[in-house]
Amino acid sequence: SGHAYDPHCPFCRIVRGEIPSSKVLETDDAVAFLDINPVNPGHVLLVPKTHHLNLTELPEAIAAHLGSLVPRLCRAVQAASGADGFHLIVNNGRAAGQTVDHGHWHIIPRFQNDSVHW
Ligand code: 5GP
Ligand code: ZN
Repeated sequence: SGHAYDPHCPFCRIVRGEIPSSKVLETDDAVAFLDINPVNPGHVLLVPKTHHLNLTELPEAIAAHLGSLVPRLCRAVQAASGADGFHLIVNNGRAAGQTVDHGHWHIIPRFQNDSVHW
C-alpha cells in the first residue's frame, strides 16, 4: 500500500521539492505546508513523506509521528496567524471528500466570528 514516491502525486512532488510550497515544519518523515486553496489563512496540510493512499493505510509508527507533531504545528500556526481555534480534520476516502490520494491531516485555523460555515 505504501510507496516511497509516486511521480503523479502532488504531495510526493512537494516532499521532493518538485512543486513549490510554503513549508511550515519538516522532519525526516513528515512535512507540513500551506494549503494552496485555504479555508482560512494559515490552513496547513500535514503529510508523511512516504506515499500512502489514506490514513487507513498508514503504518502505526508514521501515524504516531504525525500525531506527535500536531501540538507544535498548532502552536506555530497560532503564532503566525493569530487563530483563535482549529479544526483538525481528515477527509479519508472519496466518500468523505478526499481528493489527493496521499493521506494527510488538515489543520484549519478558526477566528472569532469568521465566515467559515462548517
Ligand atoms: P482533501 O484530499 O483532504 O480533500 O484535500 C486536499 C487538499 O490539498 C485541498 O485542500 C487542496 O487545496 C490541497 N492541494 C491540492 N494540491 C495542492 C498543491 O499542489 N499544493 C498545495 N499546497 N496544496 C494542494
Ligand atoms: Zn504521494
